Amino acid sequence: MTAVEGKKIAIVGAGLSGAVIGRALAEAGNQVEIFDRRPHIAGNCHTERDEQTDVMVHVYGPHIFHTDDAEVWNYVNRFQTFMPYKNRVKTTSKGQVYSLPINLHTINQFFGKSFRPDEARAFLETLGDASIEQPKTFEEQALRFVGKDLYEAFFKGYTQKQWGCSPTELPASILKRLPVRFNYDDNYFFHRYQGMPENGYTDMVGQILDHPNISLHLETAFQRDQAVGFAHVFYSGPLDGYFDYQYGHLGYRTLDFERFTYDGDYQGCAVMNYGDVSVPFTRITEHKHFSPWESHQGSVCYREFSRACGPKDTPYYPIRLVEEKEQLSHYAALATQEAHVTFVGRLGTYRYLDMDVTIREALDTAKLYLSTLETNAMMPSFLHPPT
Ligand SMILES: Cc1cc2nc3c(=O)[nH]c(=O)nc-3n(C[C@H](O)[C@H](O)[C@H](O)COP(=O)(O)OP(=O)(O)OC[C@H]3O[C@@H](n4cnc5c(N)ncnc54)[C@H](O)[C@@H]3O)c2cc1C
Repeated sequence: MTAVEGKKIAIVGAGLSGAVIGRALAEAGNQVEIFDRRPHIAGNCHTERDEQTDVMVHVYGPHIFHTDDAEVWNYVNRFQTFMPYKNRVKTTSKGQVYSLPINLHTINQFFGKSFRPDEARAFLETLGDASIEQPKTFEEQALRFVGKDLYEAFFKGYTQKQWGCSPTELPASILKRLPVRFNYDDNYFFHRYQGMPENGYTDMVGQILDHPNISLHLETAFQRDQAVGFAHVFYSGPLDGYFDYQYGHLGYRTLDFERFTYDGDYQGCAVMNYGDVSVPFTRITEHKHFSPWESHQGSVCYREFSRACGPKDTPYYPIRLVEEKEQLSHYAALATQEAHVTFVGRLGTYRYLDMDVTIREALDTAKLYLSTLETNAMMPSFLHPPT
């Protein structure tokens, strides 16, 4: 038996986590009620057409789909045509525009050279600070591998603005081992599959939710005391919020978007980072360039500012420094005592998750739940514990 008889299943959140779990359970014959406090589906991936310019806007910041997971790629392609898209990021530093991630073009332009790959590699080795044997902080990691000049131009200011603290306070693990490419590959992601949903993420999530066993309730906040009426609850809202913030708010960074329009092409690319600390925003995104198969005269851009998340703000990036980890273990302990509730997704497990990982975890969660119906086993509070 893969369907619960008599009782419905509640899903909190109509983002990717909730939609993917809901669809799998509905297809297995379950009656599913999905609640979202927002007036729209798709959670933070929400896209909508701008009325004035017709540009597809990524309302909560730009989202590029990329994955190595063939099952996830096939899954999203079942609900939406994916258009070819390669993320190519540029950065402005001290009045010059460079290509990111740091690649041979960036190195040659920055140092006014015409190095071949081996020459650039040897040159960079002379710049790295070899006295730092075991880098502990983000700053030490960067200085060890790329040296002071590249660190200051491409990592220091951006990281400081993004995380609101000095790179000396962040762990080395944030920066990949050697964040440099010795060729001209400027594709931001390494994954095998990359693309953009032709009609936007909200349309894709709408197709996922389009099943007769799914009822959707927008602008409806779900509270803990409602859980008793359901066979099981899959909760993709904030973990601390479920327990009424009794141990305080978990630390997040939030983003402010300063939206502006432009007649024509504002910056010639989708993402332009700003590494200098003197510029208060981290980047400008120009949304029509996320849909390169479309053509629009007008343009919609976002200046993106990062700051600490207050109680009324939208939580974006979990901070997960030492203080948050202790608080988190209290919330995780409360969650494991909660019967018939599974905490999922980026907010429910307080982890940064890309969309492909979110979908993979949601598919696995639904599969496990359906198997527990057959075996009468307990469904765990977390498939992926936050601690
Ligand atoms: C700025 C930014 C850029 C990103 N860019 C990329 C990218 O380029 N590529 C990529 O792969 N990933 C990207 N991501 C990650 C992506 O946004 C997540 O993987 C995805 O949104 C996770 O989906 P989710 O359903 O877990 O959470 P969410 O999308 O946050 O959905 C949770 C939903 O639950 C609802 N909710 C919360 N509490 C309640 C409640 N009590 N009652 C009812 N409803 C509730 C919320 O309103 C929300 O709609 C980015 C994330 C951010 C922050």
